Amino acid sequence: MNSAVAAARMILTRLHEVMASRLHVQGKLNQVVDIIGESLDSEVCSIYLLREGMLELFATRGLNQSAVHVTRMAVGEGLTGTIAANVETLNLAEAAAHPDFQYRPETGEEKFHSFAGVPIVRRERAVGVLCVQHVEPRRYEEVEIEALQTTAMVLSEMISNAGLVDDDAMGGINPTLSGPELASGLALVKGLASGTAVFHQPRVTIEHTVAEDIEAERQRVYLAFDKMREQIDKMTGQAEFGVGGEHEEVLATYKMFAYDEGWSRRINEAIDSGLTAEAAIERVQQRTRMRMRQIDDPLLADRMHDLEDLANRLLRIVSGQLGTAAAKGLREDTILIARNLGPAELLEYDRRLKGVLLEEGSLTAHVVIVARAMGVPVLGRVRGLRGLVREGDPLLLDADAGTVTIRPSPTVIEAFEARFAKSKERQATYARMRDVEPVTRDGVRVNVKINAGLRDDMPLLNLTGADGVGLFRTEFQFLVSATLPARERQTRLYRDVLDAAGDKPVVFRTVDIGGDKVLPYLRHDDGENEENPAMGWRALRVALERDGLLKVQARALLEAAAGRTLNVMFPMVSETWEYDAAREVFQSQIAYLKRQKKSLPEAIRYGVMLEVPALAEMLDVLIPKVSFISIGTNDLTQFLFAADRANPKLAERYDWLSPSILRFMRRVVREVTGHPVDLAVCGEMGGRRLEALALLGIGIRRLSITPAAVGPIKELVRQVDLGEIGAAMEGWLAHPPASMRETLRDWATARGIDCD
Ligand code: PEP
Ligand code: MG
Repeated sequence: MNSAVAAARMILTRLHEVMASRLHVQGKLNQVVDIIGESLDSEVCSIYLLREGMLELFATRGLNQSAVHVTRMAVGEGLTGTIAANVETLNLAEAAAHPDFQYRPETGEEKFHSFAGVPIVRRERAVGVLCVQHVEPRRYEEVEIEALQTTAMVLSEMISNAGLVDDDAMGGINPTLSGPELASGLALVKGLASGTAVFHQPRVTIEHTVAEDIEAERQRVYLAFDKMREQIDKMTGQAEFGVGGEHEEVLATYKMFAYDEGWSRRINEAIDSGLTAEAAIERVQQRTRMRMRQIDDPLLADRMHDLEDLANRLLRIVSGQLGTAAAKGLREDTILIARNLGPAELLEYDRRLKGVLLEEGSLTAHVVIVARAMGVPVLGRVRGLRGLVREGDPLLLDADAGTVTIRPSPTVIEAFEARFAKSKERQATYARMRDVEPVTRDGVRVNVKINAGLRDDMPLLNLTGADGVGLFRTEFQFLVSATLPARERQTRLYRDVLDAAGDKPVVFRTVDIGGDKVLPYLRHDDGENEENPAMGWRALRVALERDGLLKVQARALLEAAAGRTLNVMFPMVSETWEYDAAREVFQSQIAYLKRQKKSLPEAIRYGVMLEVPALAEMLDVLIPKVSFISIGTNDLTQFLFAADRANPKLAERYDWLSPSILRFMRRVVREVTGHPVDLAVCGEMGGRRLEALALLGIGIRRLSITPAAVGPIKELVRQVDLGEIGAAMEGWLAHPPASMRETLRDWATARGIDCD
């Protein structure tokens, strides 16, 4: 046993004695502050508990005893209130320097400098705060903070047994919840749903924290680990959504955590220190949460959710508090509510869900990728969600608009149902458009392809009747993997994608990582954070520097496309030599495969994304070298306007329909016309009807768009006369109107063209 474990054990043994003693609860609290004060060599140790909505000083060693039950503060007030409000630990060498510091004269605390405090948590809410103060300014060490956190767990049990704090704070449902509420969040998977709120899982409440028999606790945790691993293996083996989807990689990462020896070792150490199996799991999870919080990396945060998912599963097994909502008989119209979900947890519900609402969640989270494969709309980042909704509440989820209405009024329900019916009708119309050719009124066939990035997107090719995949974002595989995907894995994905596409072409874009798409396993050599990542070390710039990356991908693509046509596209080409260099990497791999007598693609077509304006000045040099060019308007417009595409303050400022963008692209169209080079647009712009109309007007005949837009765009194309819109656009671009958008919309409306 190491010394930290031994020290923790000593504290726990003493706390255990206090808990088991016949003292009244106030006497027990008085003893606890003495034990902690002595063990941490702190002049002050205090316990604040939530009573009647206020944090009240219940026991102290070191502050004036006359302040006990007198000093009270609101949640959010002072350092103690801040700890309770944020349910977060504070560790400060100089308390007075913290912006939330408030001095309470009755306590006599002015002589103390350092301060550390931890929340006392019950059912995820703070029901009190345990803190220590010290005369000398120093930060408390990690082991000391951990001792405080462990003590806070024991205190949580003690005060709950004694019925000491507010019932509401103990996790009771807020009785004032009634009447409609509208909450907004981030649309993670789009769609509409009407249903009933079902909580995924009330968190396991830990009833006993201090172990009676350490060996028995160790056995319990061993058995629970075995059972959990068995469950995960079974789940990964029978995931219903086909073998080989992205979720397979997701589950592989998940499995890696389940078998992580470090994790089980840390839990065992916590048991050695005297905690029960449940408390040990929670203790280790708290520590991990705290560490991860210090790392500001969204990808790591997503992995953290997987780990939370597993820790909860382990807790449920060990405590016998089984049963998420998935295990019980689920209502037909369930909209699931959770803080966050792990991918495996979501898979347990298979396709029975109408929708999912999360307090957390992000676009790159594994659970979102799985939800997309399941076709379940997800709204994430709904703040305070679980405080707004009660189990069984009726909900209207509008992930398209990024909102959810809780307990809607009859008028809201009526409006929603009308919208829902319209959306279903539209979907049906678009489904019927599947076999309809996008031919303009004057007989020109427009090429409409889809943008994709996952294996699970491929069925959409047939469902929409699109002409192929105009942009396959290969970096998605890299983003959902815990480690750099090995070549065989890449080959397997590309081959599956080509198989799924059949005769239709697929344009594979080589990895566009770096910039904002940071991979934890691929960092800049000097480890620096970029100030301006969109214009930084990304895409081909990374791929050419990390030669191995592109080489491996080239081999994977060439092998996957053996005997077929391979379309390769390079992103973020800024100068033509970058294109030459990337192509050279492919050439050398071809030479290698030839030497190995391996079969090669029947034909290889190379192309570039036109996203960096500088490249447009070099089209005369570029055109003879390429088979196709695809304009990436998402990036192109951010560079043309010098406006970060991810900055919400600028989201509405510049219009895709501005004459400058349209003139720029028209120039490109003119230069390419007459050459055997396919020119397409593959940014989001092409999937919107009014914008697509403008693109047709400047001579674009190929679009690659989000799959949901294929139906609407086909419908548009069939209403348009290219001669007419071309002439109108010429006039507007020669003499730009005050608002191109308004002008274009009026023009379309006058001709009965629906552009919404
Ligand atoms: C673009 O920039 O327009 C594009 C299609 O690529 P991405 O959105 O992946 O950067
Ligand atoms: Mg781009």
